[in-house]
Amino acid sequence: MTEVRAKKALGQHFLTDQKVARAIVDALHGGLPTLEVGPGMGVLTQYLLEREDIDLKLIEIDTESVEYLLTHFQGMQGKLMEGDFLRLKLEKLFPEKFAIIGNFPYNISSQIFFKVLDYKDSIPEVVGMVQKEVAERIAEKPGSKTYGILSVLLQAWYDIEYLFTVGSGCFAPPPKVESAVIRLTRNSRTSLGCDEALFKTVVKTAFGQRRKMMRNPLKPLALARGKADVLSQDIFSQRPEQLSVEDFVALTNLLD
Ligand code: SAH
Repeated sequence: MTEVRAKKALGQHFLTDQKVARAIVDALHGGLPTLEVGPGMGVLTQYLLEREDIDLKLIEIDTESVEYLLTHFQGMQGKLMEGDFLRLKLEKLFPEKFAIIGNFPYNISSQIFFKVLDYKDSIPEVVGMVQKEVAERIAEKPGSKTYGILSVLLQAWYDIEYLFTVGSGCFAPPPKVESAVIRLTRNSRTSLGCDEALFKTVVKTAFGQRRKMMRNPLKPLALARGKADVLSQDIFSQRPEQLSVEDFVALTNLLD
């Protein structure tokens, strides 16, 4: 079988640079069952299979890629699943802790990270290639323009490392944007010190109007919770991009 024809709708940009592929696989600390998201033609898979500390499973949505992997790699039966990562019941597949790795389809990279958050206590490590901008956003500290919802939510639970940038020439077909590899390692936090669901709501609502003082976007929420009195406090005069995880925890407690 010849190579897989790249399908734009599936975010298919195949990595062709072997050094980069190896560096991504090397970035995984390992020692855990591991799920590769979107293996495509297996450029990462080949190196993952070499690692004896990794029990690999793969999820790929594209039938043509699945057929390619089945014909080019041994032992794919029982490891490779055809389907949508976003719909996968991860707790069934991995009763214990597991890691995630992949050159993620860029059109769903944020959704992939939101799903990681849903399973944060089962996922100690993620190594992923994403759009450079998304990588920067996720790794960014407060005070920067790109600091956003995913930065706060992920940094609450993970240590984030921006590992390296990958130019578009390393892919076929080349994407329009640069890419970057990041590593997420679960931190030691076991609870936030506030209501978790409300924390998420507060972060998402605050960044809904990121250029405004938080008093504006959070007013309806405060009123609905009978907490109008706290809106005069100084913290509500800041913009969301200035707040650390701890600040958002404090803010959540004010509104609880
Ligand atoms: N890992 C390969 C392919 C990266 S492109 C490489 O580095 O070359 C992204 C891959 O994710 C494609 O193979 C695409 O088919 C797959 N994909 C896209 N959406 C997916 C989804 N929802 N679930 C699983 N795989 C998906």
